Amino acid sequence: MKHLIREVFLEEGYVFATRAADIAREAGHTRPARLASNENPFPPSPKAVKAATDVLPNANRYPDETNREFIAALKKRHGDYRFVASVGMDGIIDTVIRTFITDGDPVAVATPTYSYYGLAVRAQGGATVSVPRKEDFSVDPASFCRDAAGTKLAFLCTPNNPTGTTETTETVAQICENYEGILFLDCAYIEFDGTDYRPLMKKFDNLIIGRTMSKAYSLAGLRVGYAFVPAWYEPFYNRAATPFTLNMVSQAAGAAALRDTVHVKTIVSVVQEWRQRFIDECPFPVVPGGANFVMVDVAPRTAEDVVTELAQKGVIVRSCASFPGLPDHYIRVSIGEPWENEAFITAIGEIYQP
Ligand SMILES: *Cc1c(COP(=O)(O)O)cnc(C)c1O
Repeated sequence: MKHLIREVFLEEGYVFATRAADIAREAGHTRPARLASNENPFPPSPKAVKAATDVLPNANRYPDETNREFIAALKKRHGDYRFVASVGMDGIIDTVIRTFITDGDPVAVATPTYSYYGLAVRAQGGATVSVPRKEDFSVDPASFCRDAAGTKLAFLCTPNNPTGTTETTETVAQICENYEGILFLDCAYIEFDGTDYRPLMKKFDNLIIGRTMSKAYSLAGLRVGYAFVPAWYEPFYNRAATPFTLNMVSQAAGAAALRDTVHVKTIVSVVQEWRQRFIDECPFPVVPGGANFVMVDVAPRTAEDVVTELAQKGVIVRSCASFPGLPDHYIRVSIGEPWENEAFITAIGEIYQP
């Protein structure tokens, strides 16, 4: 029956990096340092855990389809903006694409970047137009607008996965002003950087800012994503979304996590301290970035070699070779628990040959 499947799904989907974990296991590391998937190594806020547990007995009922408690917590945290919520930011990305893109529509993507945009666009019948970043991985607004001209939708990730590069608010404002389509600004890692794009929502009606509770808020397992959307767009988004978006556990945990501002602040400052130590102590050059990971240039070595050697030493990191548009000498290293970070600094020091 396979011939009935649409061609687009016969290609390989999202690539999870599991090879390094296999190498570490074969080398006898039962508890390797896991620095390949940008998760938060710290558990969620205890208040979020309690809120999640408290609602479980009500799970016979459908959740609140308006996500009322979660949206109220977002407004308290960010101010009076319009929000939509979904099953991770990936769910938001899917629904946004569904509202704009149909067969053959081109979608601009600032590359190299997160691979799911391309997969989701193709699943909807669209085609991606790669908008290359500059040599330092930042985005030039004028060339972005030139390359993206004629597209209805564009994706720009800041801080960018996997490079870590953060765009200024001026760059984003210039794009919003000169691009005729909708700009989806993916801010999955923004809490670790602090650049504030939110005020741009008041100025532009072609900007959507995607956020997630998977990274700074330690709720990856509960799949909580949300977005700042223009008021005119909200009803169309809701028509394209599934009837129930967040489940009740995710809604409760997400709201409680947003209210626990101390917890997230502590995590962010620990991550920022470690990011600086990675920059200072990694013997290879680290690309300047604002996320909870760093991208390291391991030239003249290849990413593949370094990932393998680190795995043999019990440290799992991600090769960036699978990111279209990146040469094969970059690795991405997430900031993990202190012992994991120490293990990386030691291991990369052993690998480096001046
Ligand atoms: C992790 C990540 C997401 C998706 O996050 P979820 O909310 O867990 O779906 C989106 N964009 C980027 C760039 C990411 O790294």
